[in-house]
Amino acid sequence: MDACRFCWMCRHICPIGNATGQERNTARARALGLSLVAREAVEYSEDIINNVYECALCGACVKECVTGWDPVAFTKEARLGAALDGKLPPYVLKMVTAVLETGNIYGAKPDDKLTAKIKGLKKSDTLFFLGADARYKTPKNAGEAIDLLLKLGADFTVLENEPDSGYGLDFLVGAAAETKTLFDACAKTLNGYKQVVCYDPADAKVFRREYKEQGIGVDFAILTFTEYLSIMLSNKSVKKSDLVFTPQDSAILARDLEETQPIRDILEKIGRVSEMLCNRRDTMLAGNLIMNEYMPLVMRRVALDRWTNAKNVGAKIVVTESPAEYALLAATKPEGLDVLSLEEAIEKCL
Ligand code: SF4
Ligand code: SF4
Repeated sequence: MDACRFCWMCRHICPIGNATGQERNTARARALGLSLVAREAVEYSEDIINNVYECALCGACVKECVTGWDPVAFTKEARLGAALDGKLPPYVLKMVTAVLETGNIYGAKPDDKLTAKIKGLKKSDTLFFLGADARYKTPKNAGEAIDLLLKLGADFTVLENEPDSGYGLDFLVGAAAETKTLFDACAKTLNGYKQVVCYDPADAKVFRREYKEQGIGVDFAILTFTEYLSIMLSNKSVKKSDLVFTPQDSAILARDLEETQPIRDILEKIGRVSEMLCNRRDTMLAGNLIMNEYMPLVMRRVALDRWTNAKNVGAKIVVTESPAEYALLAATKPEGLDVLSLEEAIEKCL
C-alpha cells in the first residue's frame, strides 16, 4: 500500500466506488487508510476494517494502477490481519463460522432437485465442479448446466457431497490456516480425477492460482466451463441464430485467468457477438454473491450500473459465465433486456 502514489488513476474504474459514489470505496482511499494504520498513526478501527470488506477484489484497479502495484494484494493482507487480530466484523465471522461448520459460507442446505439430478449421474474421471454459489444460490442454473452437458454427450460426474473449494474463505480472510485446511481437504477429494471442469470461474481461479501459491498439489487438469463447452461444441452442429449476444466478461476469467476468447467463439457459433462497454480485460464487475450477504443494496447498484453500460451499447441479450453475476443481473434486469447464462444461450440454438 505504500507503493500507492495516491494518483487517482484507478478512481473511475472501481465498480463499488462508482455504485456508492464514495471516495472511501476507491483503492486509493483504502491504501491511505491502511498506510496510516501501518504507521500506527490511527487504530485498525471498525470503520477501516469495514472499508476493507467493501472491496470486491475484482482487480480493475490492479489493471489500471500506474505503479504496477496490486491493491487486491494489500486488501487481502488487511483482511488476514483483521482475522489474526480477532477483529473480523460480525457479518464476516458469520460466514467464516458457517463454512467451517456446514461446509458452505451461506450455511445453506442442498437443493433437493439438484441433489436428485446429481444422484442420477454415472461415474466418470471427469468431475464437473459446481461450486458454492451455484449449488446454494443458483441451483436452477447448475441443473441446466448439467442437462446441457448430458445433451452434448459429455462424460462427467458431479459429487453429491462436493467439498468447498475454499474460494469464499480466501475472499474473506485470505491465506489463513483455516483457508489452507479447506484447500487441502478439497484437493484430497479431487485428486485422482483426470480433469475438473469448474462451473464457477471463482473455483477455477483458486484451483489454478491460490492452491499453487499455498503449495497444494493437484494432479488433475483444470478447465473452466466455457473452455469445456468450447471443446464439446467444436465438432457439434448447432443452429446459427439471428440472436445478438453481448458477453459480460467475468472479472476473474478476464483478468485473473486471462480467458476471454472461448465465450466469443461459442457465441459466434450460435449467433452474433456485440461487445459490451468495457469488455475483456477492461470488464466491470456485475455482482458478487458473498458481498451481497452484507451489502445487498450496493450489489444491486453495481448490477444496475452494468445494465446501464449494456443499454448504452444497445445490447439486447447479456450473456454471463458467472453464477453470481447471473443472480444479480437477473434480479435487476430492466424491461426490454435479457440476461442468459452461457448454457441458456447455447440451449436456445441446439
Ligand atoms: S479490486 Fe475492484 S472493488 Fe476493489 S478497489 Fe479495486 S476496482 Fe474497486
Ligand atoms: S492507480 Fe495505483 S498508485 Fe494510483 S491511486 Fe490507484 S492504487 Fe494508488
